[in-house]
Amino acid sequence: MPMFILCTEASTRCDRCGNPIETSDWYPMEKERDSDGELRLYSFCSDGCKEAWLDESEGVEEGETS
Ligand SMILES: [Zn+2]
Repeated sequence: MPMFILCTEASTRCDRCGNPIETSDWYPMEKERDSDGELRLYSFCSDGCKEAWLDESEGVEEGETS
């Protein structure tokens, strides 16, 4: 079973669907601060995946401001 692997060096995978990303080509990325205030980099296999990921993350309440 494939698993979600984040921040691996050898292979880049879509942070939403887990598909391998062809890193020789341009691919969509997104920066976001996590709950610890740490900047995280997300990469996506396609613009569609990035849009869907953004939609999903917008559903999370942003009540916390530290
Ligand atoms: Zn994807």
